[in-house]
Parts: sequence; structure tokens; C-alpha cells
Amino acid sequence: MGIEAQVISPTDYGDFLKWMPGESNIINYELNESLAIEMTNQAEIIFCLDFNSLKRINQYGKHVEAASAKKVMIDHHLEPESFADYALHSTLASSASELVFLFIELMEMVDVIDESIASCIYAGILTDTASFRHSSTQPSTHRVAAVLLEKGAKPNKINEAIYDNFSANRTRFMGYCLNEKLQILDEYHTALMCITSDELKRYEIITGDTEGLVNWGLSIQGIRFSVLIVDRTVLRKMSFRSKDNFPANEFARTYFNGGGHFNAAGGESSTSLEETETRFKLALKDYRHYLT
Ligand code: 5GP
Repeated sequence: MGIEAQVISPTDYGDFLKWMPGESNIINYELNESLAIEMTNQAEIIFCLDFNSLKRINQYGKHVEAASAKKVMIDHHLEPESFADYALHSTLASSASELVFLFIELMEMVDVIDESIASCIYAGILTDTASFRHSSTQPSTHRVAAVLLEKGAKPNKINEAIYDNFSANRTRFMGYCLNEKLQILDEYHTALMCITSDELKRYEIITGDTEGLVNWGLSIQGIRFSVLIVDRTVLRKMSFRSKDNFPANEFARTYFNGGGHFNAAGGESSTSLEETETRFKLALKDYRHYLT
């Protein structure tokens, strides 16, 4: 449309997303910091997609904050912060991608959606709803998906590209974690995995590669809370998934400087992996009434 647009990602992401049209043009802030900052400073408008606190985009956040561009937040997480000039925000939306579609619709530009755009938006909805499984999947989610199919998105191809596209190392890493690292805390109906930085190195695991690992814990009969702690060297990154009435986001916020959705949240810890594990097990005791 004659508008120069650039996607910047604050971190790298798993290989299983690299099939997406336009992916090769994305600037990874961690790999190309100076170019990312230059583009950010030159921008007239910055769309902040799928986060509502600048803390969520790590070190890149301070550059977005300092940029003179107008900022538009498109997001579906709880408790949005007020750094943006405009916001399209709903915690009821299945995904930021569904809101991106809504944004295009509000701009009366659905006509511009081609197969590439449709495929990307469909992929965002698919992954954020865990294949239309989460309770956030609304009638509108399926309606949007239907339009995306009409625009050329191919569900079989997109599913294959995302879910049947693991590197051999990633598959072996999953197997290793399930076999060697899974702790079942029977008393609390909780599954826990703690992954060291050496283990990440051994399997050449990059940031997005651990995605989905935490869901395995929740797939075990009787488990209501599943937790993954990964030693990312600078910080211990934590993923929380729960069933029913266990408030994963409140737990993350209370103990691990995090947040997210009721049943899917994340957090972080600056203490060692061992200490984080110990602190987690202590915190679990405080929440036993939800789990026993
Ligand atoms: P994941 O476990 O997939 O990294 O994150 C699950 C959900 O929790 C996502 O909606 C994500 O945005 C949110 N989340 C993950 N880490 C953090 C964090 O450190 N702080 C906050 N506020 N939310 C997080």
C-alpha cells in the first residue's frame, strides 16, 4: 500500500515459525540491535502486538518507550499498561491475531487480505488458542478463521508447517525432558520441569523451542497445574498452565513478577534454578487449597 513497514521481534523464535511469509525480513533485536533501534527511532507509528507492558519485550522496551512514534497497542492480556497512544484491547479476544483481523476490519480493509496475510493471522490464532481448544475460542474466532480460509489460508499446510516441523534436536529434547526431567508432585496434582542452561546447549535449544513443553504436564491424568522453569542464564523464565479454578496469573504475579491469563501465565526469577525450584515449591504450599 506504499507504506514502509518493518517487523521487529524482541527475541528469536522457534524454527517452526520460519515458514511464515515475510519472516526473512524480520529484524531480531537480539541479533541486530543497532538496526532495530534505528528503525524504531525512524518510525512514525509503532504497533505493539501481543504485549501490554514494555517489560514484556525485555531490553527493547526502553527504545520503544523513547521513540517519538505514535504507539498503537493491539493486545488481549490482562492489566494493560498505558504506554500506547491508542489501544485495541480485549481480554476476551482469543489472540492478538484475531484483534489484528478486527483492526483490519475496522479500517474497512478486509479486501487487502491475501493468502500470505491470511496464513499469518490464521497461524497466530491457531497457536494462541492451542488449535481452537482454549476457552478463549469464541464464535467470532471461528468466523474470523472462516474468512481467512476464504482468503486462501490452508489449514492443513499451516498445521503441518507449525506442528510437524520440529528439528530432530527439539524432538529429542522433548523426549529427554519428559523422561528425565518431569517431576510429579502428587500431593499438589502438579507437574514440574526444571531445565538447566547446559541442557539447552546440549540440544541446541533456542527461545521458542521450549514452547509447548509445559502443556505435556497438563495432559497427565489428574494434573491441574503444570510448571516449566528454564534457566535462560540471565533469568529463570517460568511458564504456568492450569486447569479449572487455579489462578495461574495470580500465582505468577504474586511470586514470580509475572502475569498472563487465568490458566496460562508466565513469570521470571533472578535467583538460581535450584533456589527458584525451592521457592516455587514453597509458594505451592500457599496455594494448596486450589490443588488438594
Ligand atoms: P508462556 O508460558 O507461553 O511464555 O506465556 C503464557 C502467557 O503468560 C502468555 O500470555 C504471556 O504473555 C504471559 N507471560 C509470560 N511471561 C510473562 C511475564 O514475565 N510477565 C507477564 N506479565 N506475563 C507473562
